[in-house]
Parts: sequence; C-alpha cells; structure tokens
Amino acid sequence: MEFFLIINGAIRKWHTALGPLAEVQFNNYKNICGAKENGQDADAYRVAMITHELGHVLGLVHEHQRYDAHDHIIFNCQNVRGYEEAKALVNKEDNREDPWFDENVCTNFQLATDVSHRQKWRAPDYISWPKDESNDLFIFNQKTVGPFDWDSIMVYPSYEYGWVLERKNPAPGQSKTWPMNAEISRGDVEAVKRIYPDIQPPPFAAPAGSSSGENT
Ligand SMILES: [Zn+2]
Repeated sequence: MEFFLIINGAIRKWHTALGPLAEVQFNNYKNICGAKENGQDADAYRVAMITHELGHVLGLVHEHQRYDAHDHIIFNCQNVRGYEEAKALVNKEDNREDPWFDENVCTNFQLATDVSHRQKWRAPDYISWPKDESNDLFIFNQKTVGPFDWDSIMVYPSYEYGWVLERKNPAPGQSKTWPMNAEISRGDVEAVKRIYPDIQPPPFAAPAGSSSGENT
C-alpha cells in the first residue's frame, strides 16, 4: 500500500474514535490534481494535507467554517463536488423547486449535513457553523475565534473542482483565490496551546517562504 494511504488509514482511526471533532474527507486524489492546476507540487500537497489532518486529530477545526466565515469568504456552493446530485435528490424527493436548495441547504450546516447522509457531497466541509451550538466541536471553534487566520493549515484551498471559496474583500492587488496553505501558522500554534495549555512549544518561527510572519 502506498505510504500516503497508510498514513491516511491511521489518521482515519483517530477520526473514527473521536467522532465529529475530527471529521474528515481526505482520500481525494482529485485534490492533488487541483494542486497541480494551482502550480503546487503533488508531494508537497500531500504533506500539507496530512499536516491538516493531524491538525484535526489535535482538535483543530476548519478556519473557513468558523461562524463568522461569511464576513471573509464567499462560498460557491454550486462548485462543490456532489452539488448537482444532492440538489436533484432534494428537489425530487422533497418536492423542492429552485432556488430552495441554494438558499437553504447551501447556507445551513445542519441541513447540508442531513442531505449529505442521503447523498454524498462535500458542502458540510465548507459551510460555516452556527455560533451558538453547544456541541463540543463548536466549543473548540469558539476558542479559536480571533482575527481570521488566512495562513492556517486548517483553511481549505479555494479550488476543488471549481472555485469553491473566494476572498470576500481582497486587498488591492490581492488574488480572490488561494492555493492550499502548506505551513502551520502562528494562529494554529496558539489554538493548539489553548487546547493543551500545559505544552510549551518553542517560540514560533515563521517558515521560510511563508506569506507572512505575523498572524493576521
Ligand atoms: Zn479538514
């Protein structure tokens, strides 16, 4: 078995044991094709993916799903893998008509999750979570809320099969889209320290070539 898949299998055991805290959709070679289209090296992308998944194992959740993500990100639901199939199923079985699916399922994490149990699609990995959930998953998320961390290893890249995520307010000259982050950010380190207050990681050193030494 390819080493990448072995690591994936091991991580999946933790995800199974930990439940939704470490929810994952991981074994996705098409994403590596996406990395190539973004000019990223496939091996580097695999390392970044595993680093991301280990972030879940440590208790981190997706930065692009924090409750205020829509202040920072535009979510293009129609570009998510499985969108057409999920919408067709809901329209047919639930007697819905356009644009009910887009206005409701595409904007509601719980509705999208319910649909994903009937028809596999990835929107529950993108849609922001409600603010007041009492689930432990969301408690972690609340603890991680500070300035939106664009450098986080827990941010998905813009691209999946199309541009799924876009920057809502790009700075002048800044692209609306981004490739997958490859490094652990200062914000990621701070989030892990909040979950495990007894650990004392070394002082944060911005990786060479990272976009920003300061966490924004
Ligand atoms: Zn993830």
